[in-house]
Amino acid sequence: MALHHALILLGPPGAGKGTQAKLLAKRCGLTHLSTGDIFREAVSRGSEVGKMVKPYLDRGELVPDDIVMKTIEERLSRSDCAAGAVFDGFPRTVSQARDFDALLNRSGLGKPIVIDIRVNREDLMRRLTGRLTCSVGGEIYNIFDAPPKKHGICDADGGKLLQRSDDRPEVVKQRLITYDEKTKPLTDYYERQGVLVTVDGTGAMDQVSEALAEVVQRAKSRDGHL
Ligand code: AMP
Repeated sequence: MALHHALILLGPPGAGKGTQAKLLAKRCGLTHLSTGDIFREAVSRGSEVGKMVKPYLDRGELVPDDIVMKTIEERLSRSDCAAGAVFDGFPRTVSQARDFDALLNRSGLGKPIVIDIRVNREDLMRRLTGRLTCSVGGEIYNIFDAPPKKHGICDADGGKLLQRSDDRPEVVKQRLITYDEKTKPLTDYYERQGVLVTVDGTGAMDQVSEALAEVVQRAKSRDGHL
């Protein structure tokens, strides 16, 4: 793997990781890598991995670490990750973070830049239950905050907008519990390494995007890479 830099977006489901990771990746010329997207594609293709991970996604629980790490290693070995990647939804457990550190070390790379996007619970619920995703290009909308011009249709490519099956309120509840138990401890893990930066994710999309770009810019001038 020839990854030059890893930007990790942490934060609960609904914090805007997907939207922001796409914008940031474009801005920095890096690949956007979402393990959630990879698993959803695998499920819709009906592949072997898809069959294995579907029950976890349906319940709002985490896919086992060994499957996640295999998926990441495979994905990172592709040429579009040569310059680096923006990680969205990975790592999700301390064990994944440790394995990922080892992977970055093995490939002679520095520490990742980790940005925790913070959003209060009330906003998270509104964002998750109002979220719609384009079935063609993956653009993300929100019926409350960022509706499409035409009901149910993507502005960008005319694709049909769908609700993710795990954005139903009962699964959302479980996903937030899973986050608190398994993923939140990651902020302490990265804080101890001195690589964690916090960004307020409550504002408008553009504001948050600017704040993230500033963090990356600061890291760039400090470390001289990216
Ligand atoms: P996301 O799109 O990031 O919200 O992920 C959707 C679902 O995919 C999660 O609820 C998990 O079931 C699974 N998933 C995605 N990324 C990971 C990961 N790094 N570790 C374990 N499960 C994951």
